[in-house]
Amino acid sequence: MHSELEQLLILQDRHQKIRQIQTEIKTLPLERAHLESQLAASAAGVEALKQRGRLLEVERKKLELDVGTRTESITRLKMQQYQTRKNDEFQAIGHEIERYENEIRKLEDQELELMIEADKLKGEIEAADKSARATKDTISRQLADLQTKSKALETQQQELGTEREALAAQIDADLLDQFERLFNSKGDAAVVAVEHGVCTGCHMKVTTATASRVKAGKEIVSCENCGRILYLEQ
Ligand SMILES: [Zn+2]
Repeated sequence: MHSELEQLLILQDRHQKIRQIQTEIKTLPLERAHLESQLAASAAGVEALKQRGRLLEVERKKLELDVGTRTESITRLKMQQYQTRKNDEFQAIGHEIERYENEIRKLEDQELELMIEADKLKGEIEAADKSARATKDTISRQLADLQTKSKALETQQQELGTEREALAAQIDADLLDQFERLFNSKGDAAVVAVEHGVCTGCHMKVTTATASRVKAGKEIVSCENCGRILYLEQ
């Protein structure tokens, strides 16, 4: 094989590896954002339950206050009842006391329901808290791994870049220019094999003349269809 072709193939390999690493590096922020959103969702779940717990407590306190005001009213009415000498007034006050007592029973029933719900919620909050802590541990580890991976990829990219520059320095400037333009425009490879008379870049048959020139290996030959530089698969 033409010695410059061999150099181009090595150069192409480094180019392709660098491109692959760059693609991987680009996905890292997406992976990180995905993990962070999982973390936020888990924390938000716990917070929503805690908020519900706070609301229940507010409702329960309100019921307690309502019971308190009615208890005070009953005390006041009982004093009035004690002081009155009129039988019909005594009875009327008695009815009012009864009404307040009924209201208190209803309020206390509601309070009990709230307390049962709050108790159940407490268990749910504990479970969600535990699961959120586990999620946080896992995700923190994954984020740290991602950070390590990111650094490793950066290092690899730098090493390959240095290697690529050293290789490029040994190649004829015009040929290097042709190679780079092809590599950037084709998206996959600038140097491709001819297999059974077919260019493996564009999958078209090359002319017999082109095939023989590639086989002779004395010059740089391009595919007449796609322009990629050809070599014979050995
Ligand atoms: Zn071709």
